[in-house]
Amino acid sequence: MTGKTHQIIGFASLVIGAAVFMPDSLNAYTLTACILGNSIGSFTPDLDDAGNRLWDMLPAGNFVGRFARKIFYRHRTITHSILGGFLFYKGYLWLIPRMVNPAYVDTHLVIISIMTGYIAHLAADMLTIDGVPLLFPFKWYFGIPPISFLRIRTGSWVETFLVFPGVIIATAAFIVSHYSSYIELIQLIRS
Ligand SMILES: [Zn+2]
Repeated sequence: MTGKTHQIIGFASLVIGAAVFMPDSLNAYTLTACILGNSIGSFTPDLDDAGNRLWDMLPAGNFVGRFARKIFYRHRTITHSILGGFLFYKGYLWLIPRMVNPAYVDTHLVIISIMTGYIAHLAADMLTIDGVPLLFPFKWYFGIPPISFLRIRTGSWVETFLVFPGVIIATAAFIVSHYSSYIELIQLIRS
């Protein structure tokens, strides 16, 4: 899946998750941090891809990218696995309380939002032909459905014209059918 598709799927998961697992309290600072965190979590697994935007954003991005490509010679390795997810979770658990002000921001919700993006990324990549090595270091690639030729090719018309708009429409439909939960969420922020 392309970065754009991962961002929209990650965000949709956050929007739906917020209504299903309604937080007890929420303020505007936490909401902002959760949306940013979700976006970071949504592209974290593709850190192993040297073409990833994050590498490009670094000063000397191309140099770092070429270096990273030597290490992560294959797209989708440890960062697309349960082990990788656990290690990133532990890393964010350490990092987030040091990066944001816990007096204003609920760091627990931020970490949940990051991992929502992360898990949504792995689930979305499972729909593609390559699949993901969930049990890395074992080189077994898992996908949905299990037969790879039924899956989507990254950047194909199916992704662009069916998956991407489909996620937006499905999320909008979910919001409409659960609007009372979202009203509650808005009231939480204002209170
Ligand atoms: Zn990926």
